[in-house]
Amino acid sequence: LISAESLASATPMMAQFIEIKAANPDSLLFYRMGDFYELFFDDADSAARALGITLTKRGQHMGEDIPMCGVPVHAADDYLQKLIALGFRVAVCEQIEDPAEAKKRGGKSVVQRGVTRLVTPGTLTEERLLDPAQPNYLMTLTRLKAAGERGFAIAWIDISTGVFRVAETDPSRLVADILRIDPREVLVPDTLFHDPEMRAAMDVLGGIVMPQPAVLFDGASAEGRVARFFGVATLSGFGNFSRAELSAAAAAIGYVEKTQLAERPPLSRPQRDEAGSTLFIDPATRANLELTRTLSGSRDGSLLKAIDRTVTGGGARLLAERLTAPLTDPDAIDRRLDAIAWLMAEPRLADGLTDHLKQMADMPRALSRIALNRGGPRDLGSLKQGLTTARAIGQMLAERDLPDELAEARDALGRLPLSLIAELEATLDDELPLLRREGGFVRPGRDGELDEMRALRDDTRRVIASLQARYGEETGVKSLKIRHNNVLGYYIEVTAGNAGPLTSDEGRERFIHRQSMANAMRFTTTELADLESKIANAAGRAIAIELSIFDTLSAQVVASADPIREAAHAISVMDVARALAALAEEQGYCRPSVDRSMDFAITAGRHPVVEQALRRQASDPFVANDCDLSPPEGAKHGALWLLTGPNMGGKSTFLRQNALIAVMAQMGSFVPAGAARIGVIDRLFSRVGASDDLARGRSTFMVEMVETAAILNQASERSLVILDEIGRGTATFDGLSIAWAAVEYLHEANRCRGLFATHYHELTALSERLARLSNATMRVKEWQGEVIFLHSVGQGAADRSYGIQVARLAGLPDSVVARARDVLAQLEESDRKSPAANLVDDLPLFAASMRQTKPESAALPSALSGLASELAAVNPDELSPREALEVLYRLKSLA
Ligand code: ADP
Repeated sequence: LISAESLASATPMMAQFIEIKAANPDSLLFYRMGDFYELFFDDADSAARALGITLTKRGQHMGEDIPMCGVPVHAADDYLQKLIALGFRVAVCEQIEDPAEAKKRGGKSVVQRGVTRLVTPGTLTEERLLDPAQPNYLMTLTRLKAAGERGFAIAWIDISTGVFRVAETDPSRLVADILRIDPREVLVPDTLFHDPEMRAAMDVLGGIVMPQPAVLFDGASAEGRVARFFGVATLSGFGNFSRAELSAAAAAIGYVEKTQLAERPPLSRPQRDEAGSTLFIDPATRANLELTRTLSGSRDGSLLKAIDRTVTGGGARLLAERLTAPLTDPDAIDRRLDAIAWLMAEPRLADGLTDHLKQMADMPRALSRIALNRGGPRDLGSLKQGLTTARAIGQMLAERDLPDELAEARDALGRLPLSLIAELEATLDDELPLLRREGGFVRPGRDGELDEMRALRDDTRRVIASLQARYGEETGVKSLKIRHNNVLGYYIEVTAGNAGPLTSDEGRERFIHRQSMANAMRFTTTELADLESKIANAAGRAIAIELSIFDTLSAQVVASADPIREAAHAISVMDVARALAALAEEQGYCRPSVDRSMDFAITAGRHPVVEQALRRQASDPFVANDCDLSPPEGAKHGALWLLTGPNMGGKSTFLRQNALIAVMAQMGSFVPAGAARIGVIDRLFSRVGASDDLARGRSTFMVEMVETAAILNQASERSLVILDEIGRGTATFDGLSIAWAAVEYLHEANRCRGLFATHYHELTALSERLARLSNATMRVKEWQGEVIFLHSVGQGAADRSYGIQVARLAGLPDSVVARARDVLAQLEESDRKSPAANLVDDLPLFAASMRQTKPESAALPSALSGLASELAAVNPDELSPREALEVLYRLKSLA
């Protein structure tokens, strides 16, 4: 498009479009034409398809029709939202001079236009484009290798709230850290993007990654660029940042400057996240545990949804942040728990706080819009309401003896910008329009001239009527009228017969003749002409005064950005504390004790999501279960439980609930249990269920092994590991061997606390050899040949797996069920003779086998007859009805 020939043949407007488009190749260009944003060429094609709007054409370019589509400016937000959600970026190109100027230049001159803003997923500020409960992070990632640095650094900012953080990370945590923060957009230097070593990471992150020119990340100029943005000479007052962190931070700032162009968002100073201060949860675990969204991607059904009782947007965001980054410092956890406990003990005060918080507006987001010159009167209104509510909360908590966390929050409310509050209260009217150019948001009585202008504008009739009455009296012509038409504007009219007093010598000094009609004469006066222009100008002048008041207020708001943000954070802290107190009260949760021991003792634990779901369905109540992985007598390390039991018995639920209780405890929440004592966990791993990854070309089994490998390689003594049925994706002996070795490794090498659910009953024999391993089972009752799930966990191993009973419940034909019973009886007979049962005696322990140069992995016997091995390979629990039938036929053919 941008060839010399193309430009030469284009109309002046098209030439302008082509040039601007060439500078923004990655974005759809919204080109302002009057009341529309128009899109041309390929942009028009893509947008019309994405938005379902009509594609038309406008003129020709180089002999071809130019495809075009347009969206009305007033509805642009809706279209932007759709496009951003679909992964587009949009460059908004406005007229940047008055069209009259272009006309003055004459000829073919077109109105000057320029891109005033790039709209990208990570740089949104519009209320309608944002989810109040979620942060909207833009992240930058950089790698700078220098002595003593960990290599990678990330910076993430939310320009809608001003949050600005940086952290270092290393290759093993990189993807986990990014997914934890859950940014909308990740910028990486293009060199890194194309680095083969980064291929896997970039694939996982997918469409949110945007390669950027490496200069954006330039390390040498980074410190200076950050300092310049914050208007300081040096960053020494900001804390210590590594070079990589500075480069990431500077890139984030650079991108914001690039996308916001003229405006400067009110970012807070970068804060450093200390590595290791949060519970490490790897991406698979995070997804499996459905912390903030379910595996299918919805918020409903997630832990967050189940525990969120916040009433403010900021509170909801803080709760989500805490859930995704639980702490590892028991003292910090206790501070949070103290706040909840205190509020539970003060129900009246908690209720009062809730009532206030419900009035709370989203101050950080309003503040950002104001600072970006994108705000409206309602944003100022939000700040007024937010600040007055904050003041009221501060007063309510004054003089109270509060636990540290709440006291600190209250103290922040003591630093509110009081003069700004007074100014907002005095200035803003009660009802506010959406747009500032509509005017009408300044309270009457605030500004004398504004009041006068509005009176003129609104009271036109009254002012004219009183002038008419006066002229009538002065001239003695009772029928004198002041009228208005589009040609003359306001004029005085008298009948021809009554014109005498106005046309007399004396009258002519005041009344100027304008027009004679058949039986009427029209006049004007300087007074009326003045009044007329005043009226015409009044509306415009009133708006101008309001706009200048708006600007003054905005400047005051921006000057108070820091205390406003601090107050907003304090409010969020209070909201989270009271929301968690309300949750604990409502759901009967207990205060966990988190310490530096190796204990993990949960009494009467429940699954927070399943419990609420059962209650909603008015089903049988959730059955509470204990779990104790504390070090057994005399041991230093925590214990492992091997959990067996039939499908549908509740194994997965039990595994997950204990992981969730750990997460909740360390985020500083009460937990769904009768009592909970947890020695702080540093890393949480889970391999639960088969999260299919077939789309990326890896088999279920491969995914399972990759995840299991990550756990065995990374779990420490302080970790908690939850493994659900590893090895089931392969043939029985393979699977059993892998599960066997994994349990031994966890016990001997990782020495972590863990729960291990399995179908391989053979594994239960391991408890005889591994001191810290015990067996647990989901209890069932058999009644008239049917299995009844009790959902309660007991000591010991399941004697059988009840797969056939479960299959029957699922509706397998009776004859198949009966035949399966026969087969099972035979299998059990041969199993007794099968050497698998003797594994525990024959195999040296894992630790012993490790010392051998060649592990005897071939120790499993192979001397089984065709039929027996075929039989032994059958795991009834795993078969679909159809597969079961196939097995039966195959067995029959062998017999
Ligand atoms: P498994 O992993 O053993 O196949 P699940 O954990 O998937 O079993 O549980 C099967 C069903 O039993 C779930 O739908 C759940 O609603 C119910 N369930 C599980 N545990 C309990 C419990 N402790 N109390 C009540 N219902 C439970």
